[in-house]
Amino acid sequence: MKLSTKAIHVGHDVDSLTGAVALPLYLSTTFERDPDGGYPRGYVYTRLDNPNRMALEQSLCSLEGGKAAAAFSSGLAAINALLQGLSGGDHIVVSDELYHGTVHIIKDIYGPWGLQATFVDTRVPELVQQAVRPNTRLVYIETPSNPTLKITDIRAIAGIARAAGAKCVCDNTWATPILQRPLELGADLVIQSTTKYHGGHSDVLGGALVSKDDDEFFARIRMIQRIGGAVPAPFDCWLISRGIQTLPCRMKAQTRIAAQIAAFLESKPQVEKVYYPGLASHEGHAVAARQMDGFGAMLSFQVRGGREAALAVTGKVKIITPATSLGGVESLIEHRKSIEGPDSRTPDNLLRLSVGLEDVEDLKTDLETALAG
Ligand SMILES: *Cc1c(COP(=O)(O)O)cnc(C)c1O
Repeated sequence: MKLSTKAIHVGHDVDSLTGAVALPLYLSTTFERDPDGGYPRGYVYTRLDNPNRMALEQSLCSLEGGKAAAAFSSGLAAINALLQGLSGGDHIVVSDELYHGTVHIIKDIYGPWGLQATFVDTRVPELVQQAVRPNTRLVYIETPSNPTLKITDIRAIAGIARAAGAKCVCDNTWATPILQRPLELGADLVIQSTTKYHGGHSDVLGGALVSKDDDEFFARIRMIQRIGGAVPAPFDCWLISRGIQTLPCRMKAQTRIAAQIAAFLESKPQVEKVYYPGLASHEGHAVAARQMDGFGAMLSFQVRGGREAALAVTGKVKIITPATSLGGVESLIEHRKSIEGPDSRTPDNLLRLSVGLEDVEDLKTDLETALAG
């Protein structure tokens, strides 16, 4: 099956009891036992497993081309479970530009627990090679990265990790499996914040880990999911499963619109620089073209005139909403530095744009007017 067929049918079986075409919602927290104490239908208690979560995990697994998937209550809960799978004294190599919450969790929760982390520019494989140590367990990359869409060569970094006896983990949130499948490129695990494109409508939080192998490390992740308890509610799984059915067509349409917006912004005198891997001017364009099936619907740009000029744009847009987050059908714009906190290295005049599904001409007019001041 191709991706768009998988998105619609895997984890979306017709209900055998009623013939319902749409997945029924199983809110029950507990499931009936046999007189002999067994569980004839396989379900025990919803924290351990639930039909809606199982359907979602099948779907996520199939889209990424993995062997096993674990769904969580948010993207950060998935990242938390991944790091809990390690031990104090372990070492990880991490991209030096990442979603700010990931940096926070590594430094402020796992740092005090003894996890050692080296942050390097993973666009340069030699720097990753120099950073690995005998106790390196993970090489953690995010590509395209947040917020300047740096592109890491997944195949090159996965090769270095494998040779070092470490696993390569890729946060694939901005690309989604529709545009990039890290497991096919040699990565061992994929992280998704399903809050973003999978959900697609800015109304549900979720996260997932998908593994290339159903191995010992994944068994530990599964245990942490069930015993740690950061599981998604059945209705959240249901919403994300529903979102996934239109993920391929939304992703392709939003990507087409974003490419036009990126070119439009690049032509504007008020714009200093545009970060979009689909632009020939982007330093990661060649690698992105090789490893992605499309350049995505996220872009950032720097506005001439500094912080005030950038903030003024977010105050003047009418169709685009100034808000954090991404991946929904509605376009969102954000002054990134002000949400990342005092340690942020993001330029003060940078705006991040999540391109939605509105008409491209309306979006251009909105930006044109806001930039004109
Ligand atoms: C949003 C995001 C996360 C965190 O996901 P939540 O669902 O908000 O916890 C992680 N990585 C990336 C790249 C993200 O955009």
